[in-house]
Amino acid sequence: MSEARDAVAFVGLGKMGLPMAKRLVEGGIRTVGYDVGPAARDSFAAAGGEVADSAAVAVAGAATVILMLPDSGIVESVLDDPEVVAALAPGTTVVDMSSSEPARTRALAERLAARGIPMIDAPVSGGVARAVTGKLAVMVGGDDADVERAEPLLTLLGTIYRSGGVGSGHAVKALNNLMSATHLLVTSEAILAGRRFGLDPAQVLEIVNASSGRSGSTENKWPRFVLPGTYDSGFGLRLMLKDMRIAVALADQVGLPSRLGADAVELWAKAAEELPADADHTEIARWLDERAAPPAGD
Ligand code: NAD
Repeated sequence: MSEARDAVAFVGLGKMGLPMAKRLVEGGIRTVGYDVGPAARDSFAAAGGEVADSAAVAVAGAATVILMLPDSGIVESVLDDPEVVAALAPGTTVVDMSSSEPARTRALAERLAARGIPMIDAPVSGGVARAVTGKLAVMVGGDDADVERAEPLLTLLGTIYRSGGVGSGHAVKALNNLMSATHLLVTSEAILAGRRFGLDPAQVLEIVNASSGRSGSTENKWPRFVLPGTYDSGFGLRLMLKDMRIAVALADQVGLPSRLGADAVELWAKAAEELPADADHTEIARWLDERAAPPAGD
Protein backbone atom coordinates (compact mmCIF):
# COMPACT_ATOMS: atom_id res chain seq x y z
CA MET A 1 0.00 0.00 0.00
CA SER A 2 1.40 3.42 -0.94
CA GLU A 3 1.83 6.36 1.44
CA ALA A 4 -1.02 8.82 1.96
CA ARG A 5 1.04 11.49 0.17
CA ASP A 6 0.93 9.30 -2.95
CA ALA A 7 -2.85 9.00 -2.81
CA VAL A 8 -4.93 9.44 -5.95
CA ALA A 9 -8.35 11.07 -6.09
CA PHE A 10 -10.37 9.52 -8.94
CA VAL A 11 -13.40 11.55 -10.01
CA GLY A 12 -15.85 9.87 -12.42
CA LEU A 13 -16.44 6.15 -11.82
CA GLY A 14 -18.50 5.42 -14.93
CA LYS A 15 -18.08 2.76 -17.62
CA MET A 16 -14.39 3.65 -18.06
CA GLY A 17 -13.53 5.29 -14.74
CA LEU A 18 -14.62 2.36 -12.58
CA PRO A 19 -12.36 -0.28 -14.18
CA MET A 20 -9.50 2.25 -14.39
CA ALA A 21 -9.78 3.18 -10.71
CA LYS A 22 -9.93 -0.54 -9.86
CA ARG A 23 -6.64 -1.07 -11.72
CA LEU A 24 -5.00 1.56 -9.52
CA VAL A 25 -6.31 -0.14 -6.36
CA GLU A 26 -5.03 -3.51 -7.67
CA GLY A 27 -1.68 -1.81 -8.34
CA GLY A 28 -1.40 -0.93 -4.65
CA ILE A 29 -2.25 2.76 -5.06
CA ARG A 30 -4.38 4.34 -2.37
CA THR A 31 -7.30 5.58 -4.48
CA VAL A 32 -10.17 7.68 -3.19
CA GLY A 33 -13.03 7.65 -5.67
CA TYR A 34 -15.94 9.99 -6.17
CA ASP A 35 -18.86 9.94 -8.60
CA VAL A 36 -22.05 11.96 -8.47
CA GLY A 37 -23.96 8.66 -8.87
CA PRO A 38 -24.37 6.61 -5.67
CA ALA A 39 -24.45 3.30 -7.63
CA ALA A 40 -21.02 4.06 -9.13
CA ARG A 41 -19.64 4.86 -5.66
CA ASP A 42 -21.06 1.60 -4.31
CA SER A 43 -19.48 -0.38 -7.17
CA PHE A 44 -16.08 1.13 -6.39
CA ALA A 45 -16.45 0.44 -2.66
CA ALA A 46 -17.43 -3.17 -3.48
CA ALA A 47 -14.20 -3.45 -5.50
CA GLY A 48 -12.13 -2.44 -2.47
CA GLY A 49 -11.79 1.28 -3.26
CA GLU A 50 -12.15 4.11 -0.75
CA VAL A 51 -15.11 6.33 -1.49
CA ALA A 52 -15.61 10.02 -0.69
CA ASP A 53 -18.95 11.86 -0.38
CA SER A 54 -17.82 14.76 -2.53
CA ALA A 55 -15.13 15.67 -5.03
CA ALA A 56 -13.70 18.11 -2.47
CA VAL A 57 -13.25 15.36 0.11
CA ALA A 58 -11.68 13.07 -2.52
CA VAL A 59 -9.08 15.62 -3.66
CA ALA A 60 -8.08 16.79 -0.17
CA GLY A 61 -4.60 15.43 0.53
CA ALA A 62 -4.27 13.70 -2.85
CA ALA A 63 -0.97 13.93 -4.74
CA THR A 64 -2.74 13.33 -8.04
CA VAL A 65 -6.31 14.01 -9.13
CA ILE A 66 -7.55 11.94 -12.07
CA LEU A 67 -10.78 12.95 -13.83
CA MET A 68 -12.73 10.55 -16.07
CA LEU A 69 -15.85 12.59 -16.77
CA PRO A 70 -18.09 13.01 -19.82
CA ASP A 71 -16.81 16.34 -21.18
CA SER A 72 -14.98 19.65 -20.64
CA GLY A 73 -18.02 21.36 -19.14
CA ILE A 74 -18.25 18.77 -16.36
CA VAL A 75 -14.47 18.70 -15.79
CA GLU A 76 -14.55 22.49 -15.35
CA SER A 77 -17.58 22.36 -13.08
CA VAL A 78 -15.77 19.92 -10.78
CA LEU A 79 -12.44 21.77 -10.72
CA ASP A 80 -14.04 25.23 -10.40
CA ASP A 81 -16.32 24.17 -7.53
CA PRO A 82 -15.29 26.50 -4.67
CA GLU A 83 -15.00 23.58 -2.23
CA VAL A 84 -12.70 21.73 -4.63
CA VAL A 85 -10.68 24.91 -5.22
CA ALA A 86 -10.20 25.21 -1.45
CA ALA A 87 -9.28 21.52 -1.06
CA LEU A 88 -6.89 21.24 -4.02
CA ALA A 89 -3.40 21.93 -2.64
CA PRO A 90 -0.71 23.60 -4.75
CA GLY A 91 1.60 20.95 -6.19
CA THR A 92 -1.22 18.43 -6.75
CA THR A 93 -1.03 17.08 -10.31
CA VAL A 94 -4.34 17.14 -12.18
CA VAL A 95 -4.75 14.53 -14.94
CA ASP A 96 -7.80 14.87 -17.20
CA MET A 97 -8.33 11.45 -18.79
CA SER A 98 -11.78 12.38 -20.15
CA SER A 99 -12.15 13.12 -23.86
CA SER A 100 -12.29 16.90 -23.45
CA GLU A 101 -11.90 19.92 -25.73
CA PRO A 102 -8.23 20.81 -26.36
CA ALA A 103 -8.67 24.62 -26.26
CA ARG A 104 -10.66 24.46 -23.01
CA THR A 105 -8.04 22.12 -21.56
CA ARG A 106 -5.29 24.63 -22.32
CA ALA A 107 -7.29 27.44 -20.73
CA LEU A 108 -8.03 25.31 -17.65
CA ALA A 109 -4.36 24.31 -17.35
CA GLU A 110 -3.40 28.00 -17.37
CA ARG A 111 -5.92 28.82 -14.64
CA LEU A 112 -4.65 25.92 -12.51
CA ALA A 113 -0.99 26.79 -13.15
CA ALA A 114 -1.65 30.27 -11.76
CA ARG A 115 -2.53 28.52 -8.47
CA GLY A 116 0.59 26.30 -8.61
CA ILE A 117 -1.34 23.24 -9.80
CA PRO A 118 0.15 21.45 -12.82
CA MET A 119 -2.23 19.77 -15.26
CA ILE A 120 -1.77 17.22 -18.01
CA ASP A 121 -4.30 15.62 -20.34
CA ALA A 122 -4.30 11.85 -20.83
CA PRO A 123 -7.38 10.69 -22.76
CA VAL A 124 -7.57 7.03 -23.71
CA SER A 125 -8.63 4.66 -26.46
CA GLY A 126 -9.43 0.96 -26.25
CA GLY A 127 -12.87 0.94 -24.67
CA VAL A 128 -14.15 -0.77 -21.55
CA ALA A 129 -12.50 -4.12 -22.40
CA ARG A 130 -9.01 -2.61 -22.45
CA ALA A 131 -9.76 -0.41 -19.41
CA VAL A 132 -10.39 -3.67 -17.50
CA THR A 133 -7.12 -5.28 -18.64
CA GLY A 134 -5.00 -2.11 -18.31
CA LYS A 135 -4.17 -2.10 -22.00
CA LEU A 136 -5.50 1.30 -23.03
CA ALA A 137 -3.68 3.63 -25.43
CA VAL A 138 -3.04 6.72 -23.26
CA MET A 139 -2.44 9.94 -25.23
CA VAL A 140 -0.50 12.29 -23.00
CA GLY A 141 -0.08 16.04 -23.38
CA GLY A 142 1.83 18.18 -20.91
CA ASP A 143 5.23 19.29 -19.64
CA ASP A 144 7.83 16.53 -19.28
CA ALA A 145 8.23 16.84 -15.50
CA ASP A 146 4.45 16.71 -14.93
CA VAL A 147 4.05 13.72 -17.23
CA GLU A 148 6.95 11.89 -15.55
CA ARG A 149 5.29 12.27 -12.15
CA ALA A 150 2.06 10.73 -13.45
CA GLU A 151 3.77 7.97 -15.45
CA PRO A 152 3.76 5.24 -12.76
CA LEU A 153 -0.03 5.63 -12.47
CA LEU A 154 -0.70 5.87 -16.20
CA THR A 155 1.34 2.75 -16.97
CA LEU A 156 -1.02 0.77 -14.72
CA LEU A 157 -3.78 1.79 -17.13
CA GLY A 158 -2.09 1.26 -20.48
CA THR A 159 0.68 2.33 -22.83
CA ILE A 160 1.69 5.97 -22.86
CA TYR A 161 1.95 7.85 -26.15
CA ARG A 162 3.27 11.42 -25.82
CA SER A 163 1.56 13.92 -28.10
CA GLY A 164 3.08 17.30 -27.12
CA GLY A 165 2.03 20.09 -24.78
CA VAL A 166 -1.07 20.21 -22.62
CA GLY A 167 -4.26 19.85 -24.71
CA SER A 168 -2.51 17.83 -27.43
CA GLY A 169 -3.76 14.50 -26.07
CA HIS A 170 -7.31 15.79 -26.28
CA ALA A 171 -6.72 16.94 -29.86
CA VAL A 172 -5.39 13.52 -30.94
CA LYS A 173 -8.24 11.76 -29.15
CA ALA A 174 -10.93 13.81 -30.89
CA LEU A 175 -9.28 13.37 -34.30
CA ASN A 176 -8.96 9.62 -33.66
CA ASN A 177 -12.65 9.38 -32.85
CA LEU A 178 -13.66 11.37 -35.92
CA MET A 179 -11.77 8.77 -37.97
CA SER A 180 -13.22 5.88 -35.99
CA ALA A 181 -16.82 7.15 -36.23
CA THR A 182 -16.49 7.84 -39.94
CA HIS A 183 -15.05 4.34 -40.53
CA LEU A 184 -17.94 2.82 -38.61
CA LEU A 185 -20.47 4.78 -40.62
CA VAL A 186 -19.08 3.92 -44.05
CA THR A 187 -18.39 0.31 -42.99
CA SER A 188 -22.02 -0.01 -41.92
CA GLU A 189 -23.31 1.54 -45.16
CA ALA A 190 -21.09 -0.78 -47.23
CA ILE A 191 -21.98 -3.97 -45.37
CA LEU A 192 -25.70 -3.18 -45.44
CA ALA A 193 -25.50 -2.54 -49.19
CA GLY A 194 -23.58 -5.81 -49.61
CA ARG A 195 -26.22 -7.71 -47.64
CA ARG A 196 -29.00 -6.32 -49.84
CA PHE A 197 -26.94 -7.43 -52.86
CA GLY A 198 -27.05 -10.95 -51.41
CA LEU A 199 -23.68 -11.10 -49.62
CA ASP A 200 -23.24 -12.61 -46.17
CA PRO A 201 -22.00 -9.84 -43.78
CA ALA A 202 -19.77 -12.29 -41.88
CA GLN A 203 -18.10 -13.34 -45.12
CA VAL A 204 -17.71 -9.74 -46.22
CA LEU A 205 -15.97 -8.95 -42.91
CA GLU A 206 -13.65 -11.93 -43.24
CA ILE A 207 -12.61 -10.86 -46.74
CA VAL A 208 -12.29 -7.15 -45.90
CA ASN A 209 -10.19 -8.00 -42.83
CA ALA A 210 -7.68 -9.63 -45.20
CA SER A 211 -7.93 -6.62 -47.54
CA SER A 212 -7.40 -2.88 -47.65
CA GLY A 213 -10.83 -1.79 -46.32
CA ARG A 214 -10.16 -3.13 -42.82
CA SER A 215 -10.33 -0.90 -39.74
CA GLY A 216 -11.26 -1.10 -36.06
CA SER A 217 -14.86 -1.20 -37.28
CA THR A 218 -14.37 -4.31 -39.43
CA GLU A 219 -11.93 -6.04 -37.06
CA ASN A 220 -13.63 -5.24 -33.76
CA LYS A 221 -16.92 -3.32 -33.71
CA TRP A 222 -18.92 -5.11 -36.39
CA PRO A 223 -17.88 -8.68 -35.42
CA ARG A 224 -18.20 -8.10 -31.65
CA PHE A 225 -21.17 -5.78 -31.24
CA VAL A 226 -23.14 -5.42 -34.50
CA LEU A 227 -23.25 -8.93 -36.03
CA PRO A 228 -24.30 -10.59 -32.74
CA GLY A 229 -26.85 -7.78 -32.23
CA THR A 230 -25.63 -6.93 -28.70
CA TYR A 231 -24.69 -3.27 -29.32
CA ASP A 232 -22.93 -3.21 -25.95
CA SER A 233 -19.43 -1.83 -26.51
CA GLY A 234 -19.90 0.46 -23.48
CA PHE A 235 -19.18 3.69 -25.40
CA GLY A 236 -22.22 5.93 -25.71
CA LEU A 237 -23.37 7.29 -29.07
CA ARG A 238 -23.64 10.82 -27.68
CA LEU A 239 -20.08 10.70 -26.32
CA MET A 240 -18.85 9.72 -29.79
CA LEU A 241 -20.83 12.59 -31.33
CA LYS A 242 -19.28 15.00 -28.81
CA ASP A 243 -15.78 13.87 -29.87
CA MET A 244 -16.61 14.18 -33.58
CA ARG A 245 -17.84 17.74 -33.02
CA ILE A 246 -14.62 18.62 -31.18
CA ALA A 247 -12.55 17.32 -34.10
CA VAL A 248 -14.65 19.04 -36.77
CA ALA A 249 -14.42 22.33 -34.82
CA LEU A 250 -10.65 21.91 -34.55
CA ALA A 251 -10.39 21.37 -38.32
CA ASP A 252 -12.50 24.51 -38.92
CA GLN A 253 -10.38 26.49 -36.48
CA VAL A 254 -7.14 25.71 -38.33
CA GLY A 255 -8.72 26.50 -41.71
CA LEU A 256 -8.93 22.90 -42.97
CA PRO A 257 -12.64 22.09 -42.68
CA SER A 258 -13.48 18.38 -42.81
CA ARG A 259 -16.36 18.08 -45.28
CA LEU A 260 -16.69 14.34 -44.79
CA GLY A 261 -16.46 14.83 -41.02
CA ALA A 262 -19.23 17.45 -41.10
CA ASP A 263 -21.48 15.06 -43.08
CA ALA A 264 -20.74 12.28 -40.61
CA VAL A 265 -21.61 14.60 -37.70
CA GLU A 266 -24.93 15.41 -39.35
CA LEU A 267 -25.86 11.71 -39.58
CA TRP A 268 -24.69 10.87 -36.06
CA ALA A 269 -26.60 13.90 -34.71
CA LYS A 270 -29.78 12.63 -36.41
CA ALA A 271 -29.23 9.19 -34.87
CA ALA A 272 -28.66 10.82 -31.45
CA GLU A 273 -31.99 12.63 -31.80
CA GLU A 274 -33.87 9.43 -32.62
CA LEU A 275 -32.19 6.87 -30.35
CA PRO A 276 -32.58 6.54 -26.56
CA ALA A 277 -30.26 8.63 -24.36
CA ASP A 278 -28.14 5.66 -23.37
CA ALA A 279 -27.72 4.22 -26.90
CA ASP A 280 -24.35 2.59 -27.56
CA HIS A 281 -22.34 4.11 -30.41
CA THR A 282 -22.41 0.81 -32.33
CA GLU A 283 -26.18 1.31 -32.67
CA ILE A 284 -25.39 3.66 -35.54
CA ALA A 285 -25.30 0.48 -37.69
CA ARG A 286 -28.77 -0.68 -36.58
CA TRP A 287 -30.14 2.87 -36.99
CA LEU A 288 -28.84 3.05 -40.58
CA ASP A 289 -30.37 -0.35 -41.31
CA GLU A 290 -33.76 0.56 -39.84
CA ARG A 291 -34.05 3.89 -41.62
CA ALA A 292 -32.92 2.52 -45.01
CA ALA A 293 -35.45 2.91 -47.83
CA PRO A 294 -37.01 -0.39 -48.98
CA PRO A 295 -35.36 -1.99 -52.00
CA ALA A 296 -36.45 -0.51 -55.34
CA GLY A 297 -39.49 -2.38 -56.68
CA ASP A 298 -40.89 -3.25 -53.21
P1 NAD B 1 -19.92 7.39 -18.35
O1 NAD B 1 -21.07 8.27 -18.65
O2 NAD B 1 -20.13 5.91 -18.21
O3 NAD B 1 -19.18 7.89 -17.00
C1 NAD B 1 -19.09 9.22 -16.61
C2 NAD B 1 -19.27 9.25 -15.11
O4 NAD B 1 -19.11 10.60 -14.64
C3 NAD B 1 -20.68 8.80 -14.66
O5 NAD B 1 -20.57 7.73 -13.74
C4 NAD B 1 -21.28 10.06 -14.04
O6 NAD B 1 -22.15 9.78 -12.95
C5 NAD B 1 -20.03 10.79 -13.60
N1 NAD B 1 -20.25 12.23 -13.39
C6 NAD B 1 -20.95 13.09 -14.17
N2 NAD B 1 -20.90 14.33 -13.63
C7 NAD B 1 -20.17 14.24 -12.50
C8 NAD B 1 -19.75 15.18 -11.52
N3 NAD B 1 -20.10 16.45 -11.61
N4 NAD B 1 -19.00 14.73 -10.49
C9 NAD B 1 -18.65 13.42 -10.39
N5 NAD B 1 -19.00 12.49 -11.29
C10 NAD B 1 -19.76 12.90 -12.33
O7 NAD B 1 -18.83 7.70 -19.46
P2 NAD B 1 -17.56 6.82 -19.87
O8 NAD B 1 -17.95 5.94 -21.00
O9 NAD B 1 -16.92 6.26 -18.67
O10 NAD B 1 -16.64 7.98 -20.51
C11 NAD B 1 -15.91 8.89 -19.72
C12 NAD B 1 -15.01 9.70 -20.66
O11 NAD B 1 -14.14 8.81 -21.36
C13 NAD B 1 -15.80 10.47 -21.74
O12 NAD B 1 -15.15 11.68 -22.00
C14 NAD B 1 -15.72 9.53 -22.95
O13 NAD B 1 -15.88 10.25 -24.15
C15 NAD B 1 -14.34 8.93 -22.76
N6 NAD B 1 -14.12 7.60 -23.33
C16 NAD B 1 -15.05 6.60 -23.22
C17 NAD B 1 -14.76 5.34 -23.75
C18 NAD B 1 -15.74 4.18 -23.65
O14 NAD B 1 -15.52 3.16 -24.32
N7 NAD B 1 -16.79 4.26 -22.84
C19 NAD B 1 -13.52 5.10 -24.36
C20 NAD B 1 -12.59 6.13 -24.42
C21 NAD B 1 -12.90 7.38 -23.90
